[in-house]
Amino acid sequence: MYHIYVDTPQQDGSECIPHLVEHCVLGNVKSARDYFSQRRISGENYTYYTSFALDTDSEEVLNRFLVDITAPISPEIIAYEAGVLKKEVTPQRYFSSLISKVWQRLYGTGYRYGTSQRVARNRVIAYHAAHYQKDRFCVLERDSRPMRVELSGVSYEPAFAIRNRGEKEIVSVADFSPESSFVGGIMEKLLDAYLEFHERYSQGEYSYNDTLYGEFPDKVFLSVEAKFVGLLKMLPESFAEEFVRHTLENFDNGDYADSDGPLMLKYGFCLSEESKKEIIRNCQKYYEAYRESLP
Ligand SMILES: [Zn+2]
Repeated sequence: MYHIYVDTPQQDGSECIPHLVEHCVLGNVKSARDYFSQRRISGENYTYYTSFALDTDSEEVLNRFLVDITAPISPEIIAYEAGVLKKEVTPQRYFSSLISKVWQRLYGTGYRYGTSQRVARNRVIAYHAAHYQKDRFCVLERDSRPMRVELSGVSYEPAFAIRNRGEKEIVSVADFSPESSFVGGIMEKLLDAYLEFHERYSQGEYSYNDTLYGEFPDKVFLSVEAKFVGLLKMLPESFAEEFVRHTLENFDNGDYADSDGPLMLKYGFCLSEESKKEIIRNCQKYYEAYRESLP
């Protein structure tokens, strides 16, 4: 498996153009053969970068893929994928609008995350040409430089409340660092696991992913619906211990590319396995720092 990352900054207060470009470079499916060969490729667009996962061990396939996604995109595919994008983002409005509001609050500028807009095709073509260049791709399994870092803990700013589509969300923010980025992902897993455990098995309520972890170029945030804050503040130590045991036991099956990619883009290295395991082992300490931030 290869994970390919590329910096794709927002344009005009939105990541609509980068997201559309991600679709266009993958979208050319004309036959059953194309369809099945596309199934080993997936793309994902975030607030300031784009990632692709390529399910192969062949360096030749990887190199061909990198050539394909840098080839010029056509106006026809842009028009077609703009329609697909619109249908994709519509159901995700809750999280999209939450991310936009957190951005607005932190940076004071408007941001329309996860929206589809009318954009001129030549701007999409120009964006692709500027950002999809051979030397701008970071391929995790090829370029990875795992580093052991000195862990000093993560401190969250006091959480703030945001109204989002009729719900109240409580958002905690930490500065972006190699440590806080990985911790963000682990905390989200811990909190979601506890919400599922508690809601599903003691309240009989079906539980969705109720927490959201996200990142901007210099901030990592965790957001949770206000109605769960009281419960999450009482997450039992025994639950966190089981979480640590389970996560370490399954470490080799875990996919940590989500945090390795942004670190490679920003620092040129990712966290070593030892550092990640150390963070997981200290889960309780990180959880306490998060809890401190809550109202
Ligand atoms: Zn998409």
